[in-house]
Parts: sequence; structure tokens; C-alpha cells
Amino acid sequence: MIERVDADRCIGCTLCVKVCPVDVLRMALDTSGRSKAVIAYPEECQSCFLCEIYCPTDALYVSPDRSPLHAVWPPSDTAAARGTSLPTALLREGTSGTTAPGHRLAG
Ligand code: SF4
Ligand code: SF4
Repeated sequence: MIERVDADRCIGCTLCVKVCPVDVLRMALDTSGRSKAVIAYPEECQSCFLCEIYCPTDALYVSPDRSPLHAVWPPSDTAAARGTSLPTALLREGTSGTTAPGHRLAG
């Protein structure tokens, strides 16, 4: 996950913002009115290292450590693993026998 932008090294080239596939980084003005990269949505970071690779001044640090991705299917296992319950609307849909993907696949 991305951990740091060194504002002293950042020259405001915007390359990191352009290459990030999930819109983690944004540009913002510092107190001197200079454009700098900032980490806007760190939780979205996929640890792909593109920003770090493209930065011409080595101003970014991406840690190789990342949280494991959540499973998305089957939904019951996902909800149980996260300790959450499915939204009420989805549960209703799933028990109708007509609209939930699992029901369609099962025929
Ligand atoms: S490591 Fe990849 S996903 Fe994370 S901020 Fe950099 S470019 Fe974006
Ligand atoms: S690529 Fe590096 S120098 Fe360019 S805006 Fe991003 S952090 Fe700053």
C-alpha cells in the first residue's frame, strides 16, 4: 500500500496521478502555492508500484505489504468471513428463486 509522498522531492509533474489505475493520488497546492501529489484514497491502493516506478524524483514510497483481498463469491461465505450480513434487499432477491445469480445458474 502507498505510504508516503515526500513533498520536498515532489516537483508536481502529475505522472503518479496519471498512471494510478484506481485514482489513489490527487494534486493539491501546498502552503506556498506549489502543486504536490497527495494520497487521497489510500484504502484503494492495489500496491501495483506504478506511481513509484514513474515518479522521476523518487518521491513516493509504496510498501510491498498489503491486506488480503476479500472473496466476492459465494456471497454467503463472504458475509460470514467478514462478520457482516448481506443487505436486506439482496437477501430478499436471493430467496425469491428468480433473480439471484446463484439461482439462475442452478436452473
Ligand atoms: S501503488 Fe498503484 S494503486 Fe497504489 S497509489 Fe501507486 S499507482 Fe496507485
Ligand atoms: S510523480 Fe513524483 S514528482 Fe511527479 S507529482 Fe507524483 S510524486 Fe510528485
